[in-house]
Amino acid sequence: NSEVKQMEKKQAKRRIVLVPVTLQGHLTPFMQLGKALSLKGFSITVAQGQFNRVSPSQDFPGFQFVTIPESLPESELKRLGSVEFTIKRNKINEASFKDCIAQLLMQHGNDIACIIYDEFMYSCEAAAREFKIPCVIFTTTSATSYVSRCVLNKLNAEKFFSDIEDSEVQEKVVENLYPLRYKHLLPSGLGPLEPLLELRREVVNKRTASAIIVNTSSCLENSSLSWMQQELKIPVHPLGPLHITASASSSLLKQDMSCIEWLNKQKPRSVIYISMGSLARMETKEALEMAWGLSNSNQPFLWVIRSGSIVESFPDELSKMVSKRGYIVKWAPQIEVLAHPAVGGFWSHCGWNSTLESIAEGVPMICRPFHGEQKVNAMYIESVWSVGIQLEGEVERGQVERAVKRLIVDEEGACMRERALVLKEKVKASVRAGGSSYNALDELIKYLKTD
Ligand code: UDP
Repeated sequence: NSEVKQMEKKQAKRRIVLVPVTLQGHLTPFMQLGKALSLKGFSITVAQGQFNRVSPSQDFPGFQFVTIPESLPESELKRLGSVEFTIKRNKINEASFKDCIAQLLMQHGNDIACIIYDEFMYSCEAAAREFKIPCVIFTTTSATSYVSRCVLNKLNAEKFFSDIEDSEVQEKVVENLYPLRYKHLLPSGLGPLEPLLELRREVVNKRTASAIIVNTSSCLENSSLSWMQQELKIPVHPLGPLHITASASSSLLKQDMSCIEWLNKQKPRSVIYISMGSLARMETKEALEMAWGLSNSNQPFLWVIRSGSIVESFPDELSKMVSKRGYIVKWAPQIEVLAHPAVGGFWSHCGWNSTLESIAEGVPMICRPFHGEQKVNAMYIESVWSVGIQLEGEVERGQVERAVKRLIVDEEGACMRERALVLKEKVKASVRAGGSSYNALDELIKYLKTD
């Protein structure tokens, strides 16, 4: 018995170092994972860059936060774009990350069980190799977008690439990955293709991780997860959605709670909630068409207009018109909003966190993807789970009005909501004891506890 206790004590002391990309959509699931692991007895160190840092809070008791000195200023992100910034940042920061781990090892008497790093912070692998610490990837996107990045890389390596821009090839289904088509593999809004392919090569070629964690549930993405299991030849742990398992607030912007009071005054399922996440920027023309369409729909709406999210500012006159039916905030408590009985639909850019949060509350969606992986998520929302409609092409007020009515007023929307509620129950069951995500977290913990 005392031996067991001693072992437990030894295990409880074991430390996990988390290395997130410090962008909202990556930080949030990382901090949730940290919380889930700390609830299972691990000590957590968060090693983060100098920009957009999460601060210690009551939500993360006992967490250690350390800073990796950055040699690349944040302003370079604008100049280089996110893809080239990521490549350069990884090259430059390799040495400072090694120093950071060396210090942590000294401080914690070699007691680091594992480094769990964001797929896009791959330079950590060099430190892990040098100090012989196991490392595990955490991809914060959907399994399907991870797979589509892998397929793109494979095609490139096999020199099959020139064909992909052919419109017939684009409509073809990727083998064993129905309904993923070649057109879904081509990322949009991320700049030229070559740096993107270079990034994929870097991520794949440097990979020595011994497992991969995905914030998804097998009831959502079974075929993509099977593909990952077969192709990657390392254990895959689909343990999401993490925001249900370990809710934790890591919002970089202050959430405006006044919108909950406004929602309290609205009729059940009447409101359309609109948010484009933490990065997307929309043309003013598109925002104006949205505003007209929303107003003409006669449905109440709650719209998150983050500062900088519209290319030029919104004309005052329009703000006044919008405020008749709508309520505008700079940043909302999104999970509470989606859980509110007044919300009938979510107009989303289809970031993966937003997608999971909407599914977990059974809210159907209007999909308006902006960047790379979001169009894969939108395709799943519309065509695989059938819980949303996509707006394609140029946004126009009549189309917006119709989409809102289809979702909130029409029978079509009611059917989508029914399916969304069924999906919600499946997802919730997967994180409860005995469910697939619950078991995947258990397996990960067993793995992290073995020496
Ligand atoms: N979010 C929020 N308030 C808002 C808008 C978004 O708290 O007003 C949160 C949302 O709940 C989600 C995250 O920001 O967890 C956005 O992540 P996502 O992956 O959806 O998109 P990204 O920001 O990475 O494009």
